[in-house]
Amino acid sequence: MRSADAAVFVGCDRGLEVRSLPVLPPAEGRAVVDLVASGVCGTDVHILEGAIGIPAPFIPGHEFLGRVSDLGDGPHVDCLGRPVKPGDLVAVNVIEPCGSCLLCATGGAASCLNLMASLSYIADPDVAPHLHGGYAEATNCPMRYLQLLPPGLDPMVASAFLCAGPTVVRAMAYAGGVRSGEHVVVIGSGPVGLFGVLWATRHGAASVTMVGSSSNPLRLELARALGATATLDIRASTAAERLDAVRAVTAGVGADLVLEGAGAPDAFAEGLALLRPRGRLALAGQYSDRGAASIAPQLLTCNALQVFGSAQFTAEDREACFEFLLSVRDAWPTILRVVTHRATVRDAASLMSAARSGKAVKALLVPEG
Ligand SMILES: [Zn+2]
Ligand SMILES: [Zn+2]
Repeated sequence: MRSADAAVFVGCDRGLEVRSLPVLPPAEGRAVVDLVASGVCGTDVHILEGAIGIPAPFIPGHEFLGRVSDLGDGPHVDCLGRPVKPGDLVAVNVIEPCGSCLLCATGGAASCLNLMASLSYIADPDVAPHLHGGYAEATNCPMRYLQLLPPGLDPMVASAFLCAGPTVVRAMAYAGGVRSGEHVVVIGSGPVGLFGVLWATRHGAASVTMVGSSSNPLRLELARALGATATLDIRASTAAERLDAVRAVTAGVGADLVLEGAGAPDAFAEGLALLRPRGRLALAGQYSDRGAASIAPQLLTCNALQVFGSAQFTAEDREACFEFLLSVRDAWPTILRVVTHRATVRDAASLMSAARSGKAVKALLVPEG
């Protein structure tokens, strides 16, 4: 029987352990997908640091794509009902909305009340079918979690933004989208922020200001290459100076829309301060509890501000992301530069440290060779 290497999270003290696990033939309704690329997400870093308490052992990895190598019995269709066959490139969704709860029934499927119960990768790798998460050379998952990659989409371009892209698509949908001629500020220069810059630029924003850190200068350079009209380095400026800079390009009134993808609590307060009256703040980066932010609630009342929290996304959001990436082929060379680090599953721990240190913009696990 075939086996596959997997990086198993065995606890905060011991980190990742590489194990060889059997690739079982898929049961009815399941598929085996061979790894093409699996992203290291900020969320994974938080999990490994113990900031998001999930009991070990399990195989992390929730943003991955691969090639279908085996299908069990049952209708061979992906999450959107399209036929799937061995050899197809697919993204794997690790959660699915239930379709019947209050949120699913009222347009909020991304925050389905039963979402976490469907989370597929928190499972003991010692128990068949063993291979559940993305940090592995193969995955055995429910067939309905597969999502076909559109023909012609470079899997590495898709991998750069596999999780960040649809995260932004959903946050922007909640926040009313980017309207032509708007002044947009993006806080955070990781994949969420970089995709946000590209999205805002290509949806007609008059200006896109990136607020990010020069700790890794490549991030701000990529932001400019993806369309940012200005970058403000949080290490070389004060919040008051950044407010002045945003007011200078918005006739003194402030940004129409701020997308937060930084994860630092202070980014929330800064995002509010940068908005014009009735401005919209899409808060998409606060995934782990990093403490409180100090805000003056009066600002929300007096400026009638709109705040949109957004977590998770649906298969439709990921589809919208794929279609968007197909439409911005000229940006692909820059997007490929977002992927700064690649390693095999065996070297997952070193890839993790590159992600943790901020040296990596996007780090991917890829197959050998
Ligand atoms: Zn992710
Ligand atoms: Zn639901």
